[in-house]
This record gives sequence, C-alpha cells and structure tokens, in this order.
Amino acid sequence: KAMAVSQIGLVGLAVMGQNLALNVAEKGFSISVYNRSFDKTEAAVKRAQKEGLGEKLKGYEDVKDFVLSLQKPRSVIILVKAGAPVDQTIDALMQHMEPGDIIIDGGNEWYENTERRKTMVAEKGLLYLGMGVSGGEEGARNGPSMMPGGSPDAYKAIQPIVEKVSAQVNDGPCVMYIGEGGAGNYVKMVHNGIEYGDMQLISEAYDILKTIGGLTNEELAATFTEWNKSELQSFLVEITSIILGKKDTQGPGFIVDKIVDQTGSKGTGKWTVQQAADLSVAAPTITSSLDGRYMSALKPERVAAAKVFGDLGLSQPTAIPGVNKAQLIDDVRKALYASKICSYAQGMNIIKAKSAEMKWNINLGGLARIWKGGCIIRAEFLDDIRKAYARDPELANLLVDPEFASRLAASQAQWRRVIGMAISAGVPVPGFTASLSYFDTYRRERLPANLVQAQRDFFGSHTYQRTDADGWFHTVWDETF
Ligand code: NAP
Repeated sequence: KAMAVSQIGLVGLAVMGQNLALNVAEKGFSISVYNRSFDKTEAAVKRAQKEGLGEKLKGYEDVKDFVLSLQKPRSVIILVKAGAPVDQTIDALMQHMEPGDIIIDGGNEWYENTERRKTMVAEKGLLYLGMGVSGGEEGARNGPSMMPGGSPDAYKAIQPIVEKVSAQVNDGPCVMYIGEGGAGNYVKMVHNGIEYGDMQLISEAYDILKTIGGLTNEELAATFTEWNKSELQSFLVEITSIILGKKDTQGPGFIVDKIVDQTGSKGTGKWTVQQAADLSVAAPTITSSLDGRYMSALKPERVAAAKVFGDLGLSQPTAIPGVNKAQLIDDVRKALYASKICSYAQGMNIIKAKSAEMKWNINLGGLARIWKGGCIIRAEFLDDIRKAYARDPELANLLVDPEFASRLAASQAQWRRVIGMAISAGVPVPGFTASLSYFDTYRRERLPANLVQAQRDFFGSHTYQRTDADGWFHTVWDETF
C-alpha cells in the first residue's frame, strides 16, 4: 500500500516540470512526480539522484500510487501542454483525489479554461489554482516568477512552498496571490505580451545600430553590455549582448547573422492583442510586435518585394556615411527606454481594465514587484513601475507618473531623431513609432477625432457632441446625400 510520503506532487516532466520539481526538492520539500510517459519520470528521478536530491524526489509509474503518496490535503502542480492535456490530466487525478485536495495548473493556459476547471473540480470539493510560471528552464530550476490565481485557500496551503521555490529579490519572493478565477493565467498572458514588445523594441534598436550606424557585431555586443549597466538593465538586454557576440562554431562569423529572419510564436502574444481589442485598450507597441512576427514569416514574399522595388530603384537600407556612432548609440538607448515605458503602460492598462471588469482587484505594483526576478522581463525598471503604483495605486497611465513623465520629457529629442533617421533610411521601426505615436496621442489635448465623428454623422447619422453645448446633435451635411 502506498504511503503518504510527499508534501507536494507534480505531473508533467518536460522542460518546465522536471526543473521545477528539482527546485522544489532542493528547497527541502519532499515531492512526488508523475508523467504520462514513464521515461520522463525515470529521467527526472535519475537527475535528482545525480544532483543529490534523490531522497526528496520520488517518481511513480501509476497515477493512483502517485496521488496516494501525497500528504493531505494533497497539492498537485500540473505542467503539461496547455488545453486538452490539462483536462485529461485533471480527469486522471480526480479519480483518486478527495475533497479539500488542490490542483494547480502551472502552464500557459487560457484563463477561461482555468475558470471552467475551477468550477468543475469544485463539484468534487477540490480547490483549484491557475498559476502562470515564467523564467523558462533556468527560472524553473533556480527560481521562477509565479503568478497564482484562483482559490485563496489553495494559495494559503501552497504559499510556504512557492515562496521558497520562486526567485528572491530585495523585497521578497517573486510570487503573490494575484486574484480570483483565471487572474493568474491572465497576468502571465499579458507578461508574455509585454515580453513580445520588449523583444521587438530590442530588435529594432539592433537594426538601427547595425544598418544605419554600421556597427560591427563586436561593437553591438559591447553596446548591449554597456546598456545592461544603464536604466535598460534587464535579462533580455543581457542575453542580447551574449547572442550578438557569439561566434559561429560551424564556420566564420557570428551565429546571429546565420539565423533565418523568421520568428515563431505560440499564442500568448496573440491572446494579449485580442484581449486589448476586446477591452478597448490601445496596445499599439505590443500589437506591432505581433505584426512584426507575422511579417517576418513572409520571407519569400519579402524577398520578392525587395526585387520588385529594387528594380524600381529603391535599394535596401544601408549605413549613413559619417554617422556619429557614439551619438547614435546614445540616442537609440534613450529611444529604446522611452518606447519601453509606453509598452509597459499598455500592458499594465490591459490588466487594469480586465481586473476592473472581473473584479479581480489585481495589485499592479505588486505585480511589477514579482516580475523583478525570475521571469523573462525581469529588469531594474520594474522597481520604478512598482514605485509608480505605490505613489498612486489608481494611476491612469504610467506615462503620467511624475518620474516616468520627466524621463519621457527628457528623451524627446533623441527619441524623435532616431525614429526620423530610421524612417528616412527605410529601416522599419514599428515598435518605436507605435510607442511614440501612443505617447503623442495620449498627451494630445485635441485630436482629429472631431472629423471622424463628423464623418460618422454624415454617412450614418451617428450624431456628435458639441464643445459648446450639452446633448447629442445631428447635422444634415449635404442635401444631395
Ligand atoms: P510542453 O512541451 O508544453 O508539454 C509536454 C508535457 O505535456 C509532457 O510531459 C507530456 O507528456 C505532457 N502531455 C502532453 N499531452 C498530454 C496528455 N494528453 N496527457 C498528459 N500529459 C500530456 O512542456 P513544457 O515546455 O515543459 O511546458 C509546460 C507548460 O508550461 C506549458 O503550458 C507551457 O506553455 C508552459 N511554459 C513553458 C515555458 C518554457 O520555457 N518551456 C515557460 C513558461 C511556461 P509525455 O511525456 O507523456 O508526452
């Protein structure tokens, strides 16, 4: 008969699950693990033994033995492919679980699936959490950022474990209870959308420096290394410096120059953009990053179009002769920083709008805090966002926080100069321009929306409001229409 030996269980031993299980064991908690295919369980047990964690980690071939090996109330983290595999895993676990037991889905799940499952397992008295986990393989092993949402009681039960397993920063562990229902999955989704934005903006900075500035790979790597000591300090800038300096082992030159310029995606960025639209929240920088990925995929079309316009005398963008490299580098750094502020403002406002709609009551400053470590968007900058929401929890937009506002104001000349240069050279900078337009639109007292509303009234009698009188008005614009 199986003995209840472990404090927690984990199902799904691919990249994320295996590494998180070892992390849990290393932090001193006993853990049982299970995977649909037994070979991954065997591999995890072997690795645990090799890392001296064999005592803490036990593998099971049978799901019933696995469940019965857990101390009550039983907590099981699931890390399998999102969607139907999660439902199948829950079905298998539920056969053996009892009221009060807890299921935690750690995958990148659509938040409504979590809400549905929470209700479904509640019929059997089980508690449910949807917990976004960020940090990839390394984060899972050494300390990820974790975003649990759902049953508050379930969170209390696993809190001591996840607080030790998550990344630790100066002001605590990178985990907090996010909110009811699918709130945890939702913020993880937007985290990924913000990550798309960061990656797009960094790639545009690289393109400008390389294409317009003519920087060599060594110079590019050195530039990003320097930037990582500035206000741009972040995991993504750091890995970019390493990527740009990495020599190819299969021939001369650098690996980055031999990678096909096509980007894949798995869905969380698209969901973020769809959500922004559903909530009527503008997120142009994040949207531009998604569009950037879609257009990157059109490689054969782009090559053909380059020829069409090349034949018409439009050559590909090239370096500007005699450009002042030092000034360009400084300008691009400031432009990147200003653009990044706009992107985070958009992401935070998506979460804020959804939180209000769902009554999740999400603590945006707390969210910025738990993103400071462990996750892919970790950066010093997030502490400034935390402070902004500490100054004003109801802040309408990060752009008007006094600290960010003064930094944006101070970057104006550089931000506009860089974008102007890129546009005249023909280097596409959709993320930079989306951010600048977002900023210019948001700070504009009067937009040309008066004309759009007049047009709507003209062709559809949609009516308009006047600046000088209350009420709704309609004009007969032209008798002939
Ligand atoms: P994955 O490649 O998404 O999924 C593989 C795992 O799912 C395997 O353990 C597989 O079991 C299991 N699985 C697939 N279909 C199943 C089914 N029908 N029933 C039971 N198990 C099934 O694994 P991952 O990359 O480790 O990611 C796990 C979750 O974390 C995903 O939601 C992912 O989006 C999220 N995530 C991943 C990363 C990352 O960097 N990889 C980062 C953050 C979040 P078998 O071995 O039996 O095939």
